[in-house]
Amino acid sequence: MTNDEWRMAKRRLVVVGNGMAGIACVEQILKHVPCFEITVFGDETHLNYNRILLSSVLAGERTTDEITLNTVEWYRRNDIDLRLGVRIVDVDSGRKRVTGDDGTVTPYDTLLLATGSTAFMPPIEGLELENVFTFRTLEDTRGLLRRAAAGVKAVVIGGGLLGLEAARGLQVRGCDVTVVHLMSTLMERQLDSDGGNYLAGKMEDLGIRVLLGRSTVAIVGDTRVEGVALEDGAVLDADLVVVAAGIRPNVDLAYKAGLTVNRGVVVNDWMETSDPDIFAVGECVEHRGVCYGLVAPLLEQGKVLAATMTGNRGPVYSGTIPAAKLKIMGIEVFSAGDWSEQHADPVRYEDRALGVYKKLTVRDGKLVGAILVGDTSDSHRYMEWLRSGTDLGDKRSRLLFPPAGADSGADIAEMADTATICGCVGVTKGAIIQAIHEKGVNTLSQLKETTRASTGCGSCTGLCQALLKAVAPEFEEDTKKVLCGCVPFSQENLREILRSQRLKAVQDVLDIYGNGSGCEVCKPALSYMLDMIWCGDHDEDRSARFINDRVHANIQKDGTFSVIPRIRGGVTTPEELHRIADVATKYAVRMVKITGSQRIDLLGVRKTDLPGIWADLGMPSGQAYTKGVRMVKTCVGTEFCRFGVQDSTSAGVELERRFENLFTPHKVKMAAVGCPRNCAEATVKDIGLVGQEGSWQVVVGGAAGKSVRKADLLITVETTGQALEAAELFFQYYRENGNYLERTYDFVVRVGIEKVRKDTVYAPDAAKDALLERFRRSKARSYDAWQEGRAPMNRTQFIPLQPIDEVRA
Ligand SMILES: Cc1cc2nc3c(=O)[nH]c(=O)nc-3n(C[C@H](O)[C@H](O)[C@H](O)COP(=O)(O)OP(=O)(O)OC[C@H]3O[C@@H](n4cnc5c(N)ncnc54)[C@H](O)[C@@H]3O)c2cc1C
Ligand code: SF4
Repeated sequence: MTNDEWRMAKRRLVVVGNGMAGIACVEQILKHVPCFEITVFGDETHLNYNRILLSSVLAGERTTDEITLNTVEWYRRNDIDLRLGVRIVDVDSGRKRVTGDDGTVTPYDTLLLATGSTAFMPPIEGLELENVFTFRTLEDTRGLLRRAAAGVKAVVIGGGLLGLEAARGLQVRGCDVTVVHLMSTLMERQLDSDGGNYLAGKMEDLGIRVLLGRSTVAIVGDTRVEGVALEDGAVLDADLVVVAAGIRPNVDLAYKAGLTVNRGVVVNDWMETSDPDIFAVGECVEHRGVCYGLVAPLLEQGKVLAATMTGNRGPVYSGTIPAAKLKIMGIEVFSAGDWSEQHADPVRYEDRALGVYKKLTVRDGKLVGAILVGDTSDSHRYMEWLRSGTDLGDKRSRLLFPPAGADSGADIAEMADTATICGCVGVTKGAIIQAIHEKGVNTLSQLKETTRASTGCGSCTGLCQALLKAVAPEFEEDTKKVLCGCVPFSQENLREILRSQRLKAVQDVLDIYGNGSGCEVCKPALSYMLDMIWCGDHDEDRSARFINDRVHANIQKDGTFSVIPRIRGGVTTPEELHRIADVATKYAVRMVKITGSQRIDLLGVRKTDLPGIWADLGMPSGQAYTKGVRMVKTCVGTEFCRFGVQDSTSAGVELERRFENLFTPHKVKMAAVGCPRNCAEATVKDIGLVGQEGSWQVVVGGAAGKSVRKADLLITVETTGQALEAAELFFQYYRENGNYLERTYDFVVRVGIEKVRKDTVYAPDAAKDALLERFRRSKARSYDAWQEGRAPMNRTQFIPLQPIDEVRA
């Protein structure tokens, strides 16, 4: 048929399976001439998502929203009739129709089976008990997340890739985890016994118990899991069991359709089944005797199949070299190809102290397999040699040790255009360069959107960035998405990671999730996040802070410092003024300046004089040097002003007392005014209290610096106590959700004031109480930085806050 004939004869394509393989194939079909009316059935109730990343969801590194691959809008735009939550239970290949479990009968001209696999359940007793899980779907993951908690005893049956990722996910959720594996080597399909031993050691180091060569005979319990019985008579206590004993292709429908089936649905090199109108793709197929359990092969299959189905039969699928990477942060494991030593020369390296094990197998001068444990930085190089069948010739003597200077930049330059950068989605270096040149791609997120590179397991992110850096004319680090190159995660992800993995020290975060060293961008940001998340109960590392934070003063252009004591609400006393004057004289302070924030600045101070000045002042630090609470500017309000309708001075002093000494994503400036005349400019502050007749307006997200923005109204309340509480809710919400170095005026715009209101002042009581509780815990552990150099810090020295309404009564 010609293209026009195909277009004219639009046929009904029914796809069974809304998973990665089915939809990737549909995406390829859509690139050809539009010749199908497409209906997709999926028995899961979710849109197509990245199943690979379920492990990251369980480990708290990603949210469920982040793993969605195709939105409702995408299905609509492409005229695809999506039937979610409908299981196809029968295929009548004679009458060409499928029947759903909702009773619907749908006719087809072409049927595509993309039914994937299901978890294999070994023949043991007790699988029906409550709290026995598999780890295959988003629903499984949600179930595990609901059940996992600190102290829960979890047993994972199966020490393959999925079992280990499940084990780590549960462990970071606080469970006490044991992995029971039938074989004597972990991940025995990917690792030899040495590699497996290294991996077992690393899992044990993480605190996960590994039992090898042990067979499970039953899961025991009345109605819910109580233990796991092993063949040798041992019974492990368990509150939760994950069965991760392998997968089985879903072939029931293929049998019903009368197709040839072995382990999977048998397909030829054009991806055709034994029925000319029925096709199959993904984990449910068997090609040349192999059933794959990885994404890369099914994407390659999808491309070939789309060509076949749209009448462009030509390209063939000739199999994929299997490659797997363990996605456990802090444990690097990679395996590819045939690493057995039969008729092959092994090349090995190991360093027990560093926990590094590498083995390459070479046959007829070519690389045929690789195992890397502890250091997978060269995996892309080996993968390329495996795929291309490169003759190793002159490289032979330095296979495991590339020449010095072969950094990622040089390395990437050397790679051929046909070299695969993203193995999961199958994107080549050439395709990325083309996207950069032809589609104006300059950032990683643009690259992901345009090519889908780096949207699979994420291990190629570094390579993609190196390529962007080398080729994109206006390369921009995705600062919004990724904190920095040292720790390539978004701030949102990092906050979740620190929380769920209970990390408390900057160096630990850098060791596990970053490059081990960090930089001036990520270290202060991580310091802030740890302080905020653990409400001050973290391992403070002063070297990770900015210089200003290390010396508690603002460095000036001539290397001297500025000292600003705290003057709450701009209200001071003659005694304080005397002390400030005495200090200025004693230390020959070069300039004494009244700031625009109703404070007094001592400028031109030598670093060596700082401790003496702080001691002589006897006033707390005004935090003028840090990303923290600066000041509350006030007007005189009802105390002295004839227009005043609210006591703005007392409210401002109390506001400052409540928030002082706390760190925030960026500096926070506040003001309180006694009437709408707004003399202290509260409507252009991060938080402002604006007095009204009988009420207060609480406004947030204002600015009057480089950016000028009128603050948004958060809420109007009757009492000063309520106004202060509303301010506290917003303050803590910003601390927890703002990105480091994001001012409130950007934050409020990004999140939207409606959502800010909904999550703070209009949140359910329990959520409000939780925010306030975390705020108070942080406050209780906060301290005046200028005390630090003089006396041992007493973090618990905290005066409980009293509601101002009571204070005033
Ligand atoms: C936790 C986890 C981690 C993984 N990590 C990696 C990794 O790091 N790298 C890698 O390459 N691969 C990984 N994989 C494997 C990878 O996710 C799969 O290879 C891939 O998702 C298979 O895609 P598929 O579309 O063939 O099957 P599936 O994703 O299983 O999709 C099939 C869909 O069809 C539905 N379906 C089945 N029968 C019917 C029916 N009768 N009616 C309607 N709908 C039906 C199923 O419910 C499912 O939604 C991982 C898998 C898991 C579970
Ligand atoms: S804002 Fe109102 S109360 Fe405050 S000083 Fe100005 S006029 Fe007076």
